[in-house]
Amino acid sequence: MIFWENCSVNFQTIIIIRIMLYLMLSSLIDRVFSWPSSPSTTHPGNMVRSTSWDDIDKELQRMSEDNAMMDDELGQQMLWKVLDHGFVECEDIFGDEVVIVNAARVSFGKRKVACDAQDEKLIKYLLDHKHYSPFRHVMFRFHIKAPEFVMRQWYKHVVGCEWTSSIPSQLHGWNEISGRYVDSMEYYKPMVWREQSKDKKQGSDGIVDDQALCSTLFQEAIDHSFDAYKCMIQWGVAKEQARIVLPLNVYTEVIWTPSLQALFHFIQLRDEDHAQYEIREYAKVFASLLRDKFPIVYKYMMKADKYE
Ligand SMILES: Cc1cc2nc3c(=O)[nH]c(=O)nc-3n(C[C@H](O)[C@H](O)[C@H](O)COP(=O)(O)OP(=O)(O)OC[C@H]3O[C@@H](n4cnc5c(N)ncnc54)[C@H](O)[C@@H]3O)c2cc1C
Repeated sequence: MIFWENCSVNFQTIIIIRIMLYLMLSSLIDRVFSWPSSPSTTHPGNMVRSTSWDDIDKELQRMSEDNAMMDDELGQQMLWKVLDHGFVECEDIFGDEVVIVNAARVSFGKRKVACDAQDEKLIKYLLDHKHYSPFRHVMFRFHIKAPEFVMRQWYKHVVGCEWTSSIPSQLHGWNEISGRYVDSMEYYKPMVWREQSKDKKQGSDGIVDDQALCSTLFQEAIDHSFDAYKCMIQWGVAKEQARIVLPLNVYTEVIWTPSLQALFHFIQLRDEDHAQYEIREYAKVFASLLRDKFPIVYKYMMKADKYE
């Protein structure tokens, strides 16, 4: 204290500045050493802080609980589990087989409340002669969860389909979960590795001998992508950019509203030998829905020997 009082003003100022510099420097050092280590190419997961991993685990847990809720409702036959984490939920059906025959008979000013034998003949006649317009008065609204590579094929079906969450309309907009808002955390893992077909250029045939090796390669690649994704999120990268490191087997969700004709067209093209196994699994769900809810249409529209 005595020393301090004897110091000149200039010297006091220098001491104060030095103390401030010291405090600032030590704070800076503290911050630097409390940061996660710099990104590593060998194991990017090292740089994620533990609390954040907990959050991610909680999110994964929540997602698996969602799936469990989905299982509870399967008995209603309006919700089908597809592949490992996907589903098809029929949210609504607008119309039935009577709607089809009434639309066809409106030319004669007639209207019925239930289908009879005559109506079955009429539906067969309409289909045999490709009078498809009455089938467009029936619409469905589905909530679909499928891997991105499946949706890439699905999006090609545009005529008579609305990708919207509202009532059927001609807006040609589709709604899909956004990787700009939601973490893309779930991915599809094939049960078996299929072999490249010899005669179908784009298809598969049989299974690969070394399944274990393929699974290991797959898991390493997927883990690497997801680790990079999580790390980028942790480092503050926007989800809309971080997601570009994710693979094509990440699950996405859409609302799809096709007409009965469009749905049938989808089944014809996608529940077929040349279509990829994964999208076929979804097409099969639609075929079974038609079989249950539109038995007459199903009987004549589908090649019965193929679908029975
Ligand atoms: C096994 C398989 C392999 C495929 N491989 C590829 C591929 O490698 N690359 C690729 O890009 N796509 C591929 N596709 C997608 C395919 O080319 C179609 O885009 C998809 O199946 C949707 O069928 P679509 O065009 O009939 O459907 P939509 O576009 O919904 O059309 C429905 C129907 O409306 C009519 N229609 C539509 N547009 C017109 C028009 N402009 N003029 C007149 N009539 C029209 C047609 O009758 C048509 O069938 C593949 C499909 C399958 C099933």
